[in-house]
Amino acid sequence: MQYLYPPELRADRCGRKPSFAKKKIMLNIVLFGPPGAGKGTQSVHLVESFGLVHLSTGDIFRSNIKGNTELGQMAQSYMDKGQLVPDDVTIRMLESEVNKHPNAKGFIFDGFPRTTAQAEALDAFLNQRNAPVTSMLALEVEEKELKKRLLARAETSGRPDDANPAVIQKRIDVYNAETAPVAGHYALQGKFTGVDGIGTVEEILERLKAAIAQ
Ligand code: AMP
Repeated sequence: MQYLYPPELRADRCGRKPSFAKKKIMLNIVLFGPPGAGKGTQSVHLVESFGLVHLSTGDIFRSNIKGNTELGQMAQSYMDKGQLVPDDVTIRMLESEVNKHPNAKGFIFDGFPRTTAQAEALDAFLNQRNAPVTSMLALEVEEKELKKRLLARAETSGRPDDANPAVIQKRIDVYNAETAPVAGHYALQGKFTGVDGIGTVEEILERLKAAIAQ
């Protein structure tokens, strides 16, 4: 028999299963947190564990920049300054990416939604498909550690927005002002879980899996 979910998400000895597994609904995870919290790293592992589709809006913008598309050129002017790409463009792009995967078991949204308007648009879009956000998992890491990680990542990522301390500060400020409130949006829906983002990749992955299994 082929299982849809890894062992920790199947029925326990008493026959209890996590609600999404019971109903065979899609597992749509919003992986949340400030820049440098480890969303990209953990997404890769969660994709392996759960067979989900990983959608990183930052990665999609960067691949458009590489391909020199019109979208890429527009997005780059914001990304270089550490600002958010406008909501309308970002939402349209995200929806079109979701539509490319009609048979997905679920999605990991990495770096989206980043504003309350994006969260409302995502909810409307997914609710229409009867596949709402299952949960928001927020990786919690303090600012000093984020800055250290981003500067270290610049050595290998080649990302100009990681290499410039002023742009890093701007991204953190934008996160605090515009993105952090999105946590409240999902907390009101009872879907928010904070996860300690300090530790080894494996330790943090185990915390995330435990939060998904709740
Ligand atoms: P990331 O790879 O998630 O760190 O994103 C890199 C940059 O892409 C951000 O600093 C923004 O300029 C842009 N970006 C990524 N996701 C979004 C989003 N959901 N809304 C607006 N801008 C975004």
